[in-house]
Amino acid sequence: MARVALVTGGSRGIGAAISRALAAAGCRVAACYAGNAGAAWSFQDQTGIPVFQWDVANFQACAAGIREVEAALGPIDILVNNAGIVRDATLHRMTKPQWDAVIRTDLDSLFNMCQPLIEGMRARRFGRIINISSINGQKGQIGQTNYAAAKAAELGFTRALALESARFGITVNAICPGYINTEMVAAVPADVMQNSILPQIPVGRLGQPEEIARGVAFLAADEAGFITGSTLSINGGQHMC
Ligand code: NDP
Repeated sequence: MARVALVTGGSRGIGAAISRALAAAGCRVAACYAGNAGAAWSFQDQTGIPVFQWDVANFQACAAGIREVEAALGPIDILVNNAGIVRDATLHRMTKPQWDAVIRTDLDSLFNMCQPLIEGMRARRFGRIINISSINGQKGQIGQTNYAAAKAAELGFTRALALESARFGITVNAICPGYINTEMVAAVPADVMQNSILPQIPVGRLGQPEEIARGVAFLAADEAGFITGSTLSINGGQHMC
């Protein structure tokens, strides 16, 4: 029986590559998106992967969205918490709305998505939860106190939930991407990319979304049941820990 997978932010960027990789691995996949309906519908048309719209920062919306996905595809076996945003500013200029938006979308979303799903996974004695954190949660980054805090907290959440869930056949892992070639990174000015970012990456290039997706598919497999509470860094050698 094919596993059912849900990917938040699964219709664009890294999430779209993850949705495609899980489908290629034989899963029945659903992708959730926030509001870019044009991108979501064209992704659905191209891939046949159904898309569902809700805000991962809203607990009730997540519970309702999960019910909708499960009614369409069946109980969710694999959850990829990929949706995330940035609202960059150095702390002395950062506004409370910038702080709140990132904490709510990047961190609260893990509670909002996992809490309604975990009971079912425990009852079925199987689950794979993969949280997409960031290199900047591991090492910090100027202009990203909000984002680095949320992404670092994702790693603590991952380990605590891994401990709680291990004896139920549920694994919980995190992936920390480095700089990946998506719209989020395309917003970086070209001179900053050439002169500041690329020289920091030992392999000398940006990562591709498919390189993160490969890691997700590995951790999502039935055969990965002995890997839990781990952090997989996929960053071209930029940060080793
Ligand atoms: P993109 O901006 O390209 O895509 C983000 C996706 O998340 C979109 O599908 C978007 O939906 C969705 N999303 C955003 N906010 C919400 C929300 N409130 N509710 C539901 N869905 C939401 O991001 P990337 O692909 O670049 O990044 C994906 C993940 O990887 C993020 O968690 C990011 O922090 C992390 N990451 C990215 C890196 C990079 O270099 N790109 C590096 C390290 C980590 P919609 O299409 O509707 O807007």
